[in-house]
Amino acid sequence: MSSKPKRIEDFRKRDDLIVVTGAGGFIGGALVRYFRDKGFSRIRGVDKKPLPDWYQRTPGAENLCLDLSDRGNCIRACEGAVEVYQLAADMGGMGFIERYRVECLRSVLINTHMIEAAYRAGADRYFFSSSACAYNIDLQRDYQSRALKESDAYPANAERGYGWEKLFSEISCQEYWAERGLQTFIARFHNVYGPFGTWDGGREKAPAALCRKIIEAHASGSGTVEIWGDGLRTRSFMFIDDCVNGIDIIMHCDELVATPINLGSSELVSVNDLLTLVEEAAGFKVRRTYDPAAPKGVGGRNSDNTMIKRVLGWEPSTPLRAGLAKTYPWIEEQYNLRKAGHRTVA
Ligand code: NAD
Repeated sequence: MSSKPKRIEDFRKRDDLIVVTGAGGFIGGALVRYFRDKGFSRIRGVDKKPLPDWYQRTPGAENLCLDLSDRGNCIRACEGAVEVYQLAADMGGMGFIERYRVECLRSVLINTHMIEAAYRAGADRYFFSSSACAYNIDLQRDYQSRALKESDAYPANAERGYGWEKLFSEISCQEYWAERGLQTFIARFHNVYGPFGTWDGGREKAPAALCRKIIEAHASGSGTVEIWGDGLRTRSFMFIDDCVNGIDIIMHCDELVATPINLGSSELVSVNDLLTLVEEAAGFKVRRTYDPAAPKGVGGRNSDNTMIKRVLGWEPSTPLRAGLAKTYPWIEEQYNLRKAGHRTVA
């Protein structure tokens, strides 16, 4: 176990150029703010969304609206970069990735052009946001499946579309290191949630969706929330602050070059348990109905954190209850702002 994980400030000058793609989205937006809060003065955020639609825009950061499936735009995005964090992807919760497999697969264009552009720009380190969806789905059929360790991605049988694209792009990262010497870092995120995440519109994930459904049940007086599936499927959920911290220390750990590693919470809950925790955060109990035909994903998925604890002496540790206590009021505020006719993060 390493004594104390290294962070960006142990490697970089405050005016080194950091590029974060997907910066108009949830995790990319939080990462830009995280680096800015550390005092880095040259951060370039890139996203294809028009600027007014970005979830967060951190003052002082350069924000570029570019479609990164285009090679020339990736070259522009990476100009002068010392570190590149690639978080742009066409993605969403289970409803999105089961329905739009082609869109998910097409993120390979972003990943293919971005890593080449980072390499040609002479970037020193490159981060790729992979996913637990890269794991073999046969190991996740039971509700009480054992937690997934890094070697469980092979033999490969990833989530159709989204998971296969992640697995292929992981291999790109490994070969750019092996053949070309670009230092790449690969984290397999397990469900991330928190303020400034998608909470409506079809791309939201379970924690945000259940927060919104409880708010709607309260506001409409229906008092009822519909759960996708039977509520018994299990997952773990990582709070956004743990995610950005984890990205920083994974990217700055030499032992992890070109080595995929889990970045997720190991607090396993069923969807029913999750709803109970959201009820607690809301101070409001609901009647539950179940839709067995809705998209559900695998039976059970958890993060085995043996490797991250061994290599970094660290793991995501925000209890789900504590993270939801911060997330629920933020979604409620967004809901009320929208109702009052204001622009909100979706
Ligand atoms: P997000 O949807 O909030 O952000 C992704 C951003 O990428 C969006 O703002 C989108 O506009 C942008 N984007 C999509 N296509 C683009 C293109 N062609 N050019 C430029 N920008 C483009 O998602 P997120 O939750 O912030 O996820 C960030 C990364 O983490 C993604 O790679 C995702 O696959 C991965 N991940 C997230 C989770 C999670 O639970 N949120 C779990 C596993 C992996």
